Amino acid sequence: MRLVIMGPPGAGKGTQAAVIASMLGVPHISTGDIFRANVSQGTPLGVEARKYMDAGEYVPDGVTNAMVRDRLTHDDCRPGFLLDGYPRTVEQVGELNAMLSSAAQHLDGVLELTVDLDEVVARLVRRASEQGRSDDTEDVIRRRLEVYFEQTAPLIEMYRSQGLLVQVDGLGEIADVTGRIVSAFAIED
Ligand code: ADP
Repeated sequence: MRLVIMGPPGAGKGTQAAVIASMLGVPHISTGDIFRANVSQGTPLGVEARKYMDAGEYVPDGVTNAMVRDRLTHDDCRPGFLLDGYPRTVEQVGELNAMLSSAAQHLDGVLELTVDLDEVVARLVRRASEQGRSDDTEDVIRRRLEVYFEQTAPLIEMYRSQGLLVQVDGLGEIADVTGRIVSAFAIED
């Protein structure tokens, strides 16, 4: 299974992706997590990415695409993967298609977690006080949502027109949302 999970910041993508990936036996590949690991290790990639992340902007496509291209060549991706937070721009969609088609592969589905905007902002503000992520301040949260609606929301329609989109309601208890995803994709757990 080669899947993508999408949804606005705070939709619970990371939480659901971790559970679903382990049910499927595929790696959970979160570009945000990879960037954050690089930031905390102070690698050149982390130093570059941090400038954008702390402002709520997207890391440039060239940097992000190269990182994902490298990650997808690892052996653990052979049975599939669950991409979380990628692709996020039209250019990234094109790059991902190119990466897959050069390996004679394709996506099996794109999961969109739908959420109410007020709920998302409330979750992000809560997470800010619990985890202290440096991009979880109110101004940056607002900017991340704007960038999502400008640059990433249009991808949903692209994937819908390709017949890949599966929408799942992301509101409610974590386990309930997981249950909806499991039945939407007919995953055996
Ligand atoms: P969230 O979806 O909650 O905002 P993520 O952990 O997915 O958070 O991403 C955090 C930040 O990492 C983003 O705001 C962005 O700066 C950067 N980032 C992650 N994935 C990408 C991507 N595919 N393209 C560009 N930047 C990205």
